[in-house]
Amino acid sequence: MTDQTKFLLSESDIPKTWYNIQADLPVPAPPPLHPGTGQPIGPDDLAPLFPMDLIMQEVSQERDIDIPEPVRDVYRQWRPTPLYRAHRLEKALDTPAKIYYKYEGVSPSGSHKPNTAVPQAFYNKAAGIKRLSTETGAGQWGSSLSYAGALFDLEVQVFMVKVSFQQKPYRKAMMETYGGTCIASPSELTAAGRAILEKNPDSTGSLGIAISEAVEVAAQNDDTKYALGSVLNHVLMHQTIVGMEAMRQMEMAGDYPDVIVACTGGGSNFAGIAFPFLGAKLRGGNDVRIVAVEPAACPSLTRGKFAYDFGDTAQMTPLVKMHTLGAQFVPSGFHAGGLRYHGMAPLVSHVQDLGLIEAHALDQLECFEAGVLFGRTESIIPAPEATHAVRGAIKEALRCKEEGKSETILFNLCGHGHFDMQAYIDYFEGKLNNQTYDESELAMALAGLPSVANG
Ligand SMILES: *Cc1c(COP(=O)(O)O)cnc(C)c1O
Repeated sequence: MTDQTKFLLSESDIPKTWYNIQADLPVPAPPPLHPGTGQPIGPDDLAPLFPMDLIMQEVSQERDIDIPEPVRDVYRQWRPTPLYRAHRLEKALDTPAKIYYKYEGVSPSGSHKPNTAVPQAFYNKAAGIKRLSTETGAGQWGSSLSYAGALFDLEVQVFMVKVSFQQKPYRKAMMETYGGTCIASPSELTAAGRAILEKNPDSTGSLGIAISEAVEVAAQNDDTKYALGSVLNHVLMHQTIVGMEAMRQMEMAGDYPDVIVACTGGGSNFAGIAFPFLGAKLRGGNDVRIVAVEPAACPSLTRGKFAYDFGDTAQMTPLVKMHTLGAQFVPSGFHAGGLRYHGMAPLVSHVQDLGLIEAHALDQLECFEAGVLFGRTESIIPAPEATHAVRGAIKEALRCKEEGKSETILFNLCGHGHFDMQAYIDYFEGKLNNQTYDESELAMALAGLPSVANG
């Protein structure tokens, strides 16, 4: 008899609360600051951008936050998601380690993003909002929010980084199928977009620029709020449903992770799987190593500075303390579009600063190689972003082999790659290369950090 490979919960096991790590932090995270005064901002400062329910979640110190029943109802479409034991990958690696992965690609848009898109749409609808504006890089967030907007009868306007807009027509078609509007950013629709185009008509855009455009639209229209797909505290909290389910499933497997691995763009899928386990450890539970894997071509956690910075290029957002490459940083055109943000979630940055997690940067070629091995053994083709987690988990498994240890590894397979097969085509044709930055390139973008908050 082979060991069990799939651990499934039933619908009634969908968690009834999200987990808020702010309740268990040994040191509170530094507060967001007003860019003009350098003073901490209050809930009212965020009111033009977000509905009050989400603002209260953003600042909450309570450990367990109720998931509204209508949100759980929608979650039932694809949750609980499966957790697998990767027997065939283990065998291919000839490792004594046990590898488990939580698979978030079963959602309607193919990634973990709907875990937060659905509650964000729900709370905005409840507050009487008509329209959501947002940005998207590779298009996963734009399609997820468009899906959620369709469910809660909200208009969704998506500013999509121009280079992806041109390279990824299927994601745009997906947004439009759900009823969303998708605009290439920088655009002529906003002052922020026009300012960029005036300086550089050929700008291919960046997440920082697209955020400026979406924030501007929300700030200027009473019926419109802004939605962000990562980085913010409430987004990370919504994603903890991943880790809470995984805890139950590891229990079913009769196992507990020694190492948890996830990829980090803005930090939400990482926090989603890791924070419930980290919280348990902080409350005196089992020890666990937690490893964040980021692309060497956008290395905010490993090479950025832990400093106050803007979330966007046009400097419209509050200042948040995070590992940042500088809001002016424009990453090169590597393929894991979802990992191309200049900053890292303040809560992920904070736990890294406290030494509670580790971070590693990997090159895209070794990640695609891992993605292909994963496809050939476990049959799921990972999103380019998720290949970083796969590679990270494989590295841990190979270390176990070297050290002769049978550790338990858990990683988050945050999405499938069905809309990103061009990246695999390019990989097979040898068109991908590794990109890194020398210190002077990074120093240039970091020179622009706002002085009001950084002394
Ligand atoms: C958006 C996205 C990411 C990056 O965002 P995080 O907030 O770091 O999770 C990673 N993987 C996939 C599949 C995504 O869609």
